[in-house]
Amino acid sequence: MRELIGLCQKLLRDGDVKVVIGYEEGPRGVRPAVITDPAGCERLVFDHRAVHNLVAYLSPRRGHLRDLGRAAVVVKGCDVAAFATLLRESQLEREGAVLVGVRCGGVYRSAAGSGPLDEKNVADRCGDCGLREPGTVDHLVGELPAAPPVSGRRAARIAEIENMSPAERFAYWREVLADCVRCNACRSACPLCVCERCLADKTDPRWVESSPHPRGNLSWHMARALHLAGRCVDCGDCERACPFGIPLTLINGKVGLVMRERFGFAPGEDPEVPAPIGTFDTDDSQEFIR
Ligand code: SF4
Ligand code: SF4
Ligand code: SF4
Repeated sequence: MRELIGLCQKLLRDGDVKVVIGYEEGPRGVRPAVITDPAGCERLVFDHRAVHNLVAYLSPRRGHLRDLGRAAVVVKGCDVAAFATLLRESQLEREGAVLVGVRCGGVYRSAAGSGPLDEKNVADRCGDCGLREPGTVDHLVGELPAAPPVSGRRAARIAEIENMSPAERFAYWREVLADCVRCNACRSACPLCVCERCLADKTDPRWVESSPHPRGNLSWHMARALHLAGRCVDCGDCERACPFGIPLTLINGKVGLVMRERFGFAPGEDPEVPAPIGTFDTDDSQEFIR
């Protein structure tokens, strides 16, 4: 921890950055911290509770934070994948932020987690992680901890839903999504929901009903899942932000599996690797591309 604190203090003192975005103790576990003075860096913590994807604070939609000046952001490998996605899509410039990577031993499902990391409390995304020691950051701190345990929870849930008949599956999602009040907390929390004007807010034409209604809710969540196909880094911030605990990562997790199976793609830390959405191949076997 001293290594992380000392490095962030130095970055601020040397004027390399104006602000450090990291984690600090909060009333319910750790929470994001925005620190502008070297002494404040003493508040920084990093452990299995560091669940949030702080790259969200670099999003073009968080202009008020960008106004503070160049930021150093404490990142895990999976967060770097979100940064790479934003670079690939020309939403950020590489030199616009300093990435302070931390070697990662996995995180809990919630920032308020406690006790040893096990298959019950570990985040679903950690099981097959290849990014625990990110290579594209500006600084990398800490020793590499033991690999996190694997949770089979989500895979089992996806298999259960896949085994339903189409009518049962439709009824399941209709019921689950009926709880959505369209507060947009999921959209605000996501590091990759970056559109200046979301399709769900457009009124001419109106693509998606904006009031909470089963029909509009289904359209909204289908549109959101497709817009995040091959982009979602499975940070879970959308699901944690949802006041009704709607299992959004089940939807994005399933779409992520499809992207792996059909396109051999999962978001990684190299922005030069083309993503399926945003590229095309004139040799594609399907006619629609020509
Ligand atoms: S997915 Fe990998 S980098 Fe991200 S929290 Fe889990 S172990 Fe760490
Ligand atoms: S859709 Fe959810 S899990 Fe995926 S990147 Fe956005 S906030 Fe993270
Ligand atoms: S945070 Fe939950 S309730 Fe709010 S719009 Fe998203 S899914 Fe719906």
